[in-house]
Amino acid sequence: MVTSHMKTTTNDLPPDYHTHSSLCHHATGKPIDYLHAAVEKGLPAIAFTDHCPAPDGFNPEHRMQMEEFEIYREWVLQAERENSCEVLFGVEADYYRGCVEYLEPFLASQPLDIVLGSVHYLDYWKFDNFDEMRAWEDTHTEEVWVQYFTLLGELVDTGLYDVIGHFDLPKKYGKRPPLERIREYALPVLDKIAHQDMAIEINISGLYHVAHEMYPSPNILRWAQERGISITFGSDAHTPEHVGSDFEDAVRLAREAGYSESAHFKHRQKTHHPLPRMLR
Ligand code: ZN
Ligand code: FE
Ligand code: FE
Ligand code: ZN
Repeated sequence: MVTSHMKTTTNDLPPDYHTHSSLCHHATGKPIDYLHAAVEKGLPAIAFTDHCPAPDGFNPEHRMQMEEFEIYREWVLQAERENSCEVLFGVEADYYRGCVEYLEPFLASQPLDIVLGSVHYLDYWKFDNFDEMRAWEDTHTEEVWVQYFTLLGELVDTGLYDVIGHFDLPKKYGKRPPLERIREYALPVLDKIAHQDMAIEINISGLYHVAHEMYPSPNILRWAQERGISITFGSDAHTPEHVGSDFEDAVRLAREAGYSESAHFKHRQKTHHPLPRMLR
């Protein structure tokens, strides 16, 4: 039976491994709505990676509460039952100092397919939040980048995550140091990622902000490729219509950086797959 939500997968596009839901209070729609969008676009798989609950009321306005995790799980199972596209159960989990004690047992207790690791906070400053943008004026750009990459290195060292989210997030509002500095901060972290056999994502959402380019930049992506670091693709959709958007360009970016494969995940195991053929 063919319904409007069942389309043949063209395999022209990679899976979307970064999406959100209304449970995080700053996104709209349920997983099933994102699934429908993924099927419409002919994506081979979609990962649900809503913001992970955190203890002690850590930034509750941007994430689901611990008690809501079961609702999230049920929403994802509902999407999975539709059987129209491969569904992965994941989270985007923040790294901040002191999180490991909580995060390690929590992640181990859940039947997750994929865990994205992200740094959104420098101390309690959510530096990628538009409402907190003014703090950039009181902070040296390089200082932000140094602190960010220090935390990102610590994130990798925990070994708790599969994929690094939006690798060069501090560029979001256009504040970036010279390339030489970025190289200095990024390379040690890329070396750690390679050592841990983690992946990074090509995250489309940077296109829609002042940075006006995907995360990471083409230079960083090339440095990652040179180190054999695998990649995934993520829209970071906070509304269903953003699922899989600009993925043709993302695949092109990957190819230009020298990639011919992307990573897929299931039960937190990584496999490698050829990139989809170019559309044009
Ligand atoms: Zn979000
Ligand atoms: Fe994020
Ligand atoms: Fe996200
Ligand atoms: Zn897959």
